[in-house]
Amino acid sequence: MPGPRIALRADMDALPVKEETGLPFASTATSTYRGQPVGVMHACGHDMHVAILLGVARALAARRDTLHGEVMFVFQPSEEGPDEPGAPFGARLMLDEGVWKDFRPAAVFGLHVWSGLAVGQVGFRSGPLLASADEWSLTVHGRQTHGSRPWDGVDPITIGAQILLGTQSLIARQQVNIASTPVVLTAGQFNAGVRFNIIPDQARLVGTLRTFDPAVREDVIARFGRIAQDYAHAAGGTAELKVVNNAPATSNDPALARRVLPSLQAAVGADRVVEMPLQTIAEDFSQFANEVPGAYFLVGTTPAGQDPASMPINHSPRYAPDEAALEIGARAMLQVALDYLEGGGASSGAR
Ligand SMILES: [Zn+2]
Ligand SMILES: [Zn+2]
Repeated sequence: MPGPRIALRADMDALPVKEETGLPFASTATSTYRGQPVGVMHACGHDMHVAILLGVARALAARRDTLHGEVMFVFQPSEEGPDEPGAPFGARLMLDEGVWKDFRPAAVFGLHVWSGLAVGQVGFRSGPLLASADEWSLTVHGRQTHGSRPWDGVDPITIGAQILLGTQSLIARQQVNIASTPVVLTAGQFNAGVRFNIIPDQARLVGTLRTFDPAVREDVIARFGRIAQDYAHAAGGTAELKVVNNAPATSNDPALARRVLPSLQAAVGADRVVEMPLQTIAEDFSQFANEVPGAYFLVGTTPAGQDPASMPINHSPRYAPDEAALEIGARAMLQVALDYLEGGGASSGAR
């Protein structure tokens, strides 16, 4: 029947994590990631997203004859980022390849399972919800020399360490107002040298930057670049900073959020829909939601009686989401979809 077009999106990819849940069906898969042998685990719960969206597809297909509008189910690979920095991936690649060329939805909906909420709870927020995620890499060029004679060379390890500490004072002590707009700048890799008594030629740091405001993001990147160059020059070396954006901030369209909230409340109970604070995790769902109005919500996975704050979080090798979240997520997404297609507030259609 005539009605709006909507898209429901689930991401599908796993992570280079060796599973340590001890579950009978724990992953034993292995692979290589950027040259290193790794385990492969659904540590972010995207396998649950696939199962949930398949359940929703089945439920909607069963009502096909009475459905107002059209629904596209978007199963998206490589949400966690490209195999190599800067390579096309994920939601952006699907859009560039024309996923919405012939089917432009009026709205897009997505969800994520989340250890920070109890199973049964759904987290939502109007406006910014998840951060923008950049992958940065910093290469410091020094000059190799004997470890006993640092004055003969330029030590890139010390320069790299100074730059890293400089970035932390940038966030805390320069012009970033962290009270109004959170910024996180983390190094996850610091690689340099091969031997205890050789000062190497170069050091490489790799990390992530999380922001919620595009202007703040630009500013922090510019300051980071200046700190890197100034510290390196002061010590006789050079530094190059490269920053690749993996996902813009995910923001729930306020008008759409007003429509979605009653649907979530109808699906899981008003007292179980939690207003989320800003989350520094990121999601490339934002690429879709920057094209058309989007709404994104979190589905709790911490078993009853456990404290969500002390549970292994998504990306942990011990992340073991409660499977009851599958039904909650499917029920919530189905209600959101049906209500939107009906063009109004909550109905009891999905209970
Ligand atoms: Zn993830
Ligand atoms: Zn994820």
